[in-house]
Amino acid sequence: MQGFNKYYPPDYDPSQGSLNKARGKRSGKHALGDRARKLDQGILITRFELPFNIWCDTCHNHIGMGVRYNAEKKKIGAYYSTPIFSFRCKCHLCDGWFEIQTDPKNTRYVVVSGARQKDENWDPEENGGFAVHGKIIDTERADAPLDPLVALEKKAVASKNMNEVQIPRLESLQSISEQYNADPYSLSLKARKQFRLEKKVEQSKRKADDLIKDRYGLPTSLSLLEDDDEMVQEAKQKWMKGKEEIQRNQNLRDLRPRRLAMDRLSIPTPSSRRIVSQSKEQTLASLKARILVNTARKSYSFGGGQPIS
Ligand SMILES: [Zn+2]
Repeated sequence: MQGFNKYYPPDYDPSQGSLNKARGKRSGKHALGDRARKLDQGILITRFELPFNIWCDTCHNHIGMGVRYNAEKKKIGAYYSTPIFSFRCKCHLCDGWFEIQTDPKNTRYVVVSGARQKDENWDPEENGGFAVHGKIIDTERADAPLDPLVALEKKAVASKNMNEVQIPRLESLQSISEQYNADPYSLSLKARKQFRLEKKVEQSKRKADDLIKDRYGLPTSLSLLEDDDEMVQEAKQKWMKGKEEIQRNQNLRDLRPRRLAMDRLSIPTPSSRRIVSQSKEQTLASLKARILVNTARKSYSFGGGQPIS
């Protein structure tokens, strides 16, 4: 039997260990007595009181809450640092065993096997309240029941955002809008003046462009690039280059006539003869084509039949 009182035997020596150990040593048994007989399997026999009504699965009898059993208590795991205990009890009405475990996550007991729990838990959610105990509250899920405190916090954040961000922004926008709408006449005057100036520049540009297009016979739909200093410089350089080239060619041509005169005296080469014959053939072909077209036109207008191709 466990020592419940504060009796210390006269020969008790605290340096030799606890009081329980000293008692065990003296009697040759474990200090916890018969309850410790399965301690080598990790089982301690304790008194366990049913926390709820159950039905035994073996004899199907109803066993009321508060009935006590000598249960085999065993640590079977841990939820974080909290141990999970299993209590294995033998039904007092039959030979069946049932097992109940602690559930630290939800702070409750769970019937694991051998019996069925009578569900008598008050569900506040079902009765128009908020789920606080006995239900896993998952605020991450969209369909999770709304925690009133979370809702309140959200509301506070929203109102803070409204006061510190939204309202000042709206006010600044309003003041800008008021500034613009205060004197529409003068603003319009300014805008139109600006437009007129731009229009004048645009028109003068278009006139210059049209002049260039007229001079070089360019299509009117062609849009010309805008002039700038760099482009003018570039064009000038190109023009100078072209001029120099022309000058060079001119000089070469001045040297050539003598050579050309020599060529004329010589016998025509076969290549030049071929060019002549080619041109003859070409004129013949074009003549033929013209005659054919004319005859076709005539026959079409008089006979009304199919044009001869
Ligand atoms: Zn039973």
